[in-house]
Amino acid sequence: MSTGTRREVLGIGVGLAASGIMPGLSSPALATTRKIGYAVVGLGSYATRQIMPNFGGCDHARLVALVSGTPSKLEKYGAEYGIPQTHRYSYAQFDRIRDNPDIDVVYVILPNSLHAEYAVRAAQAGKHVLCEKPMASSVAECQTMIAACRKAGTKLMIGYRSRFEPYNRLAIELARGGHVGPTRLITAEHGFPIKPDQWRLDKALSGGGSMMDIGIYSLNAARYLTGEEPVEVSAVESTDRADPRFRSVEDRISFVLRFPSGVQANCISSYSSAHNGYRVIGTQGWIGLEPATPYTGQTMTIRKDGVTAPRTLPPPVRNQFAAQLDHMAECVLTGATPMVAGEEGLADMRVIEAIYRSAAERRTVELTA
Ligand code: NAD
Repeated sequence: MSTGTRREVLGIGVGLAASGIMPGLSSPALATTRKIGYAVVGLGSYATRQIMPNFGGCDHARLVALVSGTPSKLEKYGAEYGIPQTHRYSYAQFDRIRDNPDIDVVYVILPNSLHAEYAVRAAQAGKHVLCEKPMASSVAECQTMIAACRKAGTKLMIGYRSRFEPYNRLAIELARGGHVGPTRLITAEHGFPIKPDQWRLDKALSGGGSMMDIGIYSLNAARYLTGEEPVEVSAVESTDRADPRFRSVEDRISFVLRFPSGVQANCISSYSSAHNGYRVIGTQGWIGLEPATPYTGQTMTIRKDGVTAPRTLPPPVRNQFAAQLDHMAECVLTGATPMVAGEEGLADMRVIEAIYRSAAERRTVELTA
């Protein structure tokens, strides 16, 4: 790639990020005032603290219904967000959403092993589906969800919010544009010390340990920074089974991904150490994001031709949560396919299963298309 082209790619990234309008992200310019109605299923921590408060910052999305097994939560959040009794559902009443025309999209924010069931039931009720990551507990479940939405003619999107976050978007543009030369290596690390006694540590509900929950950010980043699918996976797991947190799920997994272009990604997933970041390393330097995927506070540093400098973007018009909600709404309004459709969740799950297989069998696993 010529220097001129590289400069042009960089210019586009900074300019669009500064204006708050980025390709693939919803813009307020859509020629309709209709807001797409969301039902949120599962009123836990992520739903109530990160998602529901951010409908207020959306141009095309609004919260219209709640689904929970806890009547006091329906009462509390129903009152807080002005959701009438007719739009509050228990899990047993869930299928009645079919008769509610105000609900366009069902946002599934439940423990991982419940994603497939509620996504399929939402599709069968004729609703579009936004589902949290990891998409499900297995490749087979992901395929079932995709098939159900295809059959119902409804859209399916996965909650990969980092794809709507400006620093991650700039990192993708710079990495794929060869800003520090062709990418040779990616390092990506995600982990946190997990607290005991929660569904994430129960394999029946989580589908797996740190890899499903937090390591998926390292994997997803390696895939979006290259724009490629890995062809080979090699993984090593380290879990202290005497630690009561890790009776049924893994703690740490280190995994190496080999991509068709020759890029190698060295990744870490952990439930017992604190890190969040990645680095794209090319022939002329590196692009670093640390932290890379938290709710706020991304910090970018670039080292190029021997010079290390921070890269700072202005605050976005919409944060990553509102941008994600608006993107799905815009897809419903325009008929477009979501940027992070079900196939994206399936692609991660295929690699996660290969990572588990590699770690269990202590061998390299090849991935075929
Ligand atoms: P949480 O434990 O805070 O909430 C889970 C909710 O599911 C609770 O309201 C609980 O009552 C309900 N629930 C229904 N049936 C249940 C059952 N059988 N067992 C346990 N709980 C049940 O969890 P969370 O942190 O909100 O995570 C929910 C989903 O959101 C997960 O898939 C998680 O991976 C995802 N998540 C995504 C992000 C992100 O940044 N994209 C962040 C956090 C969580």
